[in-house]
Amino acid sequence: MREVVELPERLAILPFRNRVLLPGAIVQIRCTSAGSVRLVEQELWQKEDKGLIGVLPVREISPPSSPLAESEERDGKRGSGPTSDYQPPIGKQATEPGQWHSRGVAARALHLSRGMEKPSGRVTYTVLLEGCCRFSIQEMNSRGPYNTATVTQLDMTQAEMDQSERDPEVQSIAHQFKLIAGDFISVLEQKRTKVGRTKLLLDTAPAHRLADIFVASFEGSFDERLAMLDAVDLKQRFTKAIEIMTRHLQTLRVAEKISQKVEGQLSKSQKEFLLRQQMRAIKEELGDTDDDEDDVVALERKMQSAGMPGNVWKHAQRELRRLRKMQPQQPGYSSSRAYLELLADLPWQISSEERELDLAAAKERLDSEHYGLGKVKKRIIEYLAVRKLKPDARGPVLCFVGPPGVGKTSLASSIAGALGRRFIRISLGGVKDEADIRGHRRTYIGSMPGRLIEGIKRVAVNNPVMLLDEIDKTGMDVRGDPASALLEVLDPEQHKAFNDHYLNVPFDLSKVIFVATANRVQPIPPPLLDRMEVIELPGYTLEEKLKIAVRYLIPRVLDQHGLTSEYLQIPEPMVELMIQRYTREAGVRNLERHLAALARAAAVKVAEREQALRISRDLNPEPTQVLGNSITDGELMLEVDAMGMSTREITSSVVTTSPLVVDESTLEKILGPPKFDGTEAAERVATPGVAVGLVWTAFGGEVQFVEATAMVGKGDLHLTGQLGDVIKESAQIALTWVRARAAELKLAVKEEGNLMDNRDVHIHFPAGAVPKDGPSAGVTLVTALVSLFLQRCVRADTAMTGEMTLRGLVLPVGGVKDKILAAHRCGIKRVILPERNVKDLMEVPAAILANVEILLAKRMEDVLHEAFEGGCPWKPVAKL
Ligand code: ADP
Repeated sequence: MREVVELPERLAILPFRNRVLLPGAIVQIRCTSAGSVRLVEQELWQKEDKGLIGVLPVREISPPSSPLAESEERDGKRGSGPTSDYQPPIGKQATEPGQWHSRGVAARALHLSRGMEKPSGRVTYTVLLEGCCRFSIQEMNSRGPYNTATVTQLDMTQAEMDQSERDPEVQSIAHQFKLIAGDFISVLEQKRTKVGRTKLLLDTAPAHRLADIFVASFEGSFDERLAMLDAVDLKQRFTKAIEIMTRHLQTLRVAEKISQKVEGQLSKSQKEFLLRQQMRAIKEELGDTDDDEDDVVALERKMQSAGMPGNVWKHAQRELRRLRKMQPQQPGYSSSRAYLELLADLPWQISSEERELDLAAAKERLDSEHYGLGKVKKRIIEYLAVRKLKPDARGPVLCFVGPPGVGKTSLASSIAGALGRRFIRISLGGVKDEADIRGHRRTYIGSMPGRLIEGIKRVAVNNPVMLLDEIDKTGMDVRGDPASALLEVLDPEQHKAFNDHYLNVPFDLSKVIFVATANRVQPIPPPLLDRMEVIELPGYTLEEKLKIAVRYLIPRVLDQHGLTSEYLQIPEPMVELMIQRYTREAGVRNLERHLAALARAAAVKVAEREQALRISRDLNPEPTQVLGNSITDGELMLEVDAMGMSTREITSSVVTTSPLVVDESTLEKILGPPKFDGTEAAERVATPGVAVGLVWTAFGGEVQFVEATAMVGKGDLHLTGQLGDVIKESAQIALTWVRARAAELKLAVKEEGNLMDNRDVHIHFPAGAVPKDGPSAGVTLVTALVSLFLQRCVRADTAMTGEMTLRGLVLPVGGVKDKILAAHRCGIKRVILPERNVKDLMEVPAAILANVEILLAKRMEDVLHEAFEGGCPWKPVAKL
């Protein structure tokens, strides 16, 4: 590249469409139009001494059309870009600055090649041109086969250039340019673009050339380059170049950033893809084809065979389509999958076949599994009979109410057995959240179906007997009211399309037989109670428990522990002792538990014996020689006749000559010292100030002692024993009544004397950890206080219950039957009851009434009269 070029006056002009050749840049142009071909031929191809030609930018106004010749441009650094030379316009067009630029660059041909256009056979040329210096057109001549023009050189002379480069302003701007050019090259280098020539030029070329070369080296707009071409003044050229390069640098940097990001993401997903492919290959190799894809296909197959109703199937299909679009790692995938699994698992069509109901067989079954409970069994048979006649009858839901362990659950399971249906128990105890019944909406994290749908899924048929256990224990709080959801379940109108929030499609519960259990009726919300038929199961008497134990519990417990009566025998008197001394409950659950404890102990003994036998056999390698041998092991003897028998036969022929027979000492050894004895009441009322009350709890009736004591004080009343408001008020009423009657009862010496002068009274309800409430302790409180002030003991064989008014009237209370049963269990012989509770005695088993004397009281005075030995010292006077 020569520094300063001498320009001839006239130059042949090659039009360069929408492109600009800048000095210092190299460009390859393919000339195809007649004018351009002639120009190249005459000016370059045929001349020995090839001169310069002028390359003039031409702005294309209309889209290129056929008459225009094609030409192609290439330079070392750029890709190809279509361009064409322009046929010189005739006349006025030639002078129009809008199309032909008035300035161009004189170029030298570095290389020429001649070619032929294929079908037409026309000659074409490809010219490699290097831009040398700027010129401006003085006059264009378009008369010849190609354009020529008289031109003036625009670039400075060497002297001018040297002078200009010494200008400090130019120097500083040139420095700035070089810095940017350096940045530009390093960015390009980072992108691994070839920058060899440009980088070399940066170090070697004179500064004023660099600006052109750099701007030419990257793809710029036509206008940008034109502006560069027009920047003749050095300062102006650098400024323009800095501006253009800064813009490009920024664009490059942003593009770089974006590509880095994209590259990062791409490589991550590519990595995942690669790993997944590898995993698939490994699985295939292992013959384990259970991958996600197959999983989804399997799921779809399962869904197809689930027999969903049409609308549910459509819904499931939609969800499946969503699942298919998801990657297994996506957050919603597993929940969507779990949901579809549930839809596929639910027994939409599957019902267990209901066998023809044989009432006699059902009755037999109930009898074989439960002792007594005549009324309850009768009601169940009635219920079954109605179902037999009208299978879709909307009978009420049976609700067994009673203390724990009285057979509520096992009765429900017997109903299922009688009907040949599957049985599922849903525990509702402590359920406070409506979502427990109806499920969480799927928008919540960790959402799941409610207990009912979950139960249906578990039992896998849509017509089970479903036990809603402890329906009285559902609560209500901010999370909704489970009872209202249950209402929907038990309503025959609504349960045809039960809507679980999680499931989000209706499920038909109409084939399910619901049975409920509760300990008490009161806590059940009235609308719910309204839909149920309450069947009460009272607690059992001692005799009943004994029979249940002997006939049902003992055989079952033995069977459960792999024992027979040959190993363990529990005589009836011992069972009675267990009932009296170790369990004081309405039901038989604890009794069953204690029997199981005996069975476990016996099982250990039997296992130990078998071990001993095996050891002794091992010591005797010749089994035939132990004929007639007897092995003594502690208290029992094993006889072995091994002649001609296999080892297995020997083991099975082990006969215990003395089974474990339970006696009182065995009971104490296994169950510990007795928890209750008949003398408890007598001992506890041995001091004045203690009375025996009867209360009613969720566990049935119970005996409750009330203790009162007095000490020096200021006339205050202290109450302890976790008492509720009602019971505290009863205590206040009792004290007031006693104080008001102090003189009549001969509690105070003087007629008008204050009973509480200089003393405090403290009343305590033992079992201090158990919360207590209710008005039925009223009469017991008064009796305890009178006993305290009179310093006379209350009769130990008498228990009482009843609410008392301020004026001494005794009002009826609830749970009479359970209370009398509890008194009987504790060996109480006399029970004082409010007179108006007499009707409740009908429900009490006659066997109990034969053993317990019932004393009816109308007023408090009647109670006191019966509570003390020899009657009350004060003669009752009717006074209100
Ligand atoms: P609940 O549901 O009322 O708390 P369960 O049904 O669980 O009580 O009964 C506890 C145990 O007592 C069960 O093993 C049951 O078979 C037995 N049981 C209760 N009542 C009777 C009865 N009348 N006859 C035979 N077994 C009974």
